[in-house]
Amino acid sequence: MLQQLWYSFFPPKIPKEYETILLQHSSYYAHLNPSLKKLFLKRLSILIHSLHFVSEKNIQVTQEMKILIGSAFIQITFGLKKYLLYNFKTIFIAPRKYTYKGMNQLIAGDVNPRKKLISLSWPSVIKGFEIEDDAVNIALHEISHSIDFENHIYPVFDPIHWNNWLKEGQKELLEIQNNEDPFLGKYAGQNMKELFARSIEFFFEQPLEFKTQRPHLFLLIQQLLQQNPLNKNHPIF
Ligand SMILES: [Zn+2]
Repeated sequence: MLQQLWYSFFPPKIPKEYETILLQHSSYYAHLNPSLKKLFLKRLSILIHSLHFVSEKNIQVTQEMKILIGSAFIQITFGLKKYLLYNFKTIFIAPRKYTYKGMNQLIAGDVNPRKKLISLSWPSVIKGFEIEDDAVNIALHEISHSIDFENHIYPVFDPIHWNNWLKEGQKELLEIQNNEDPFLGKYAGQNMKELFARSIEFFFEQPLEFKTQRPHLFLLIQQLLQQNPLNKNHPIF
């Protein structure tokens, strides 16, 4: 919070390319009204200063990577007071999908709470933003996981809203596991963490379908994040 306070008085300068890159890739940003665009840019520039981006030797971390990955944080937390995390200060950018020892598939991203690290495959990040309505966005997904972890140590969400989510989420998990909810899909039914991350992807990329199919869950996420993405130019409360 201290860092956030410091920067709110002495915000870093916002380079012109922030706007250009966001307009090109982020439909969430592109729809915001001018004053919210300004707030988004300010929060993003502060966030990027607080994060540490690293990559494999053969690719260079570009401004575009920082801006787009950072924008996923700001998008999810836009309705909240807190948008800088104490944990997960380091983002590792991979040039392609990757795997770990003992795993039999390639993955587009993961969060390692022990190492406090978020890893993302850059081509998957870009694709996630380019196809804006398929409810697949790896940056939103993994950053949701990191916020979920953070919330257990330093609260991000209102505890009452979070408890409501946990309570209803458990019922939803059972429904998915019993094939009674085809909308969110099997992957979301693995556990509460995946349910949360998948719900965030649906919330932003298919808000109308989400609201129609699972209205109670949509409302819970809306309360948690204090925003409604259906109000495109003014989503926050
Ligand atoms: Zn996940």
